[in-house]
Amino acid sequence: MRILVTGGAGYIGSHTALALLNSGHDVTVLDNFSNSVPEAICRVSELAGRRLQVIEADLGDPQTIKRALARTRPAAVIHFAGLKSVGESHSQPLRYFSNNLSGTLNLLNAMQETDLGRLIFSSSATVYGVPDEVPVKEDHSLSTTNPYGRTKLVGEQLLADLAASDVRWSFAVLRYFNPVGSHPSGRIGEDPRGTPSNLVPYVGRVAVGREPLVNIFGGDYPTPDGTGVRDYIHVEDLAAGHLAALEWVLQHSGIGVWNLGTGQGHSVLEVIRMYEQVSGQRIPRRIVARRQGDVSSSYADPAKAERELGWTARQGLREMIEDHWRWQSRNPMGYGG
Ligand code: NAD
Ligand code: UDP
Repeated sequence: MRILVTGGAGYIGSHTALALLNSGHDVTVLDNFSNSVPEAICRVSELAGRRLQVIEADLGDPQTIKRALARTRPAAVIHFAGLKSVGESHSQPLRYFSNNLSGTLNLLNAMQETDLGRLIFSSSATVYGVPDEVPVKEDHSLSTTNPYGRTKLVGEQLLADLAASDVRWSFAVLRYFNPVGSHPSGRIGEDPRGTPSNLVPYVGRVAVGREPLVNIFGGDYPTPDGTGVRDYIHVEDLAAGHLAALEWVLQHSGIGVWNLGTGQGHSVLEVIRMYEQVSGQRIPRRIVARRQGDVSSSYADPAKAERELGWTARQGLREMIEDHWRWQSRNPMGYGG
């Protein structure tokens, strides 16, 4: 089967593209390389020992998207393409609405015009706002604390309305918790442009000497050691979750929503200590003020995905950090060298 992967050159998309190829699917990546490089695709192809088709296009260009779908006629679309920085979304909300929401609408319009109905949507635990209780279940109330989160929440709502309008649509909405790690080869991984805003990529840069120390955002949260708690999930497990969701959209119509997390929370200090153990490097750190908009603790109840998709995360924090360190230490400058 051919699967079209928007944003397939990016962090999660490249790992999922590889998992698809390794499962025998044909893959078309559609990406504008606004936050990725073609080298990522070359390495996916090298790891799979197979070529994949690449279409350099922007989801803001409806005609090109429609032509791409008409030409490739994928059995399903996995839609990763989007901007993802919470901080940037506060200063450039329109750019986020336009790229993420108009991009998704253009894609859906092109799918309708070419009679394609199956789509897997990258959502995020950010749609739970400030969780009332953890672990978070899918029926938790939804809200947003930032414009990026709004694009995910509205994206989900658009899909729910569409699914209710026509049985030909089939949507899997996947709410990722905190994806980290990389393929165990160390050949592909997360390569943020500029200074990383996420914890593990930042700690990795400190470990290779590209940043002097980690700022821990808040040491007075109501958590066991006072630092924020998150559900870190290995990107390889996340990729496997997309394959499970693919089976679902092939067999069902309507819309399904699932958390993809491990169900385990880890604090910032636990992550830093694990990175020190795995890398053998000392990671200087200091506690600074809380980051605006951060929640104290967020981790998933992943039972619904296990029950309905037969998917469960297999790898723990140590494996995630080991794989991140392999990628970071072998590619200290990311894909650039
Ligand atoms: P990423 O930035 O590495 O990948 C996104 C890819 O989409 C990039 O290759 C980028 O060039 C491409 N892209 C962006 N806008 C595009 C457009 N208009 N047209 C074509 N291509 C475009 O991000 P990622 O971490 O792989 O995230 C993938 C998806 O998962 C995103 O939708 C993100 O919001 C969501 N998500 C990510 C996380 C996370 O922590 N990484 C957590 C929850 C949800
Ligand atoms: N964090 C931190 N220093 C950093 C980056 C993140 O202390 O340089 C903390 C952050 O406050 C949160 C956790 O690490 O408690 C995970 O943050 P990340 O940005 O990776 O994910 P998100 O906040 O989106 O869950």
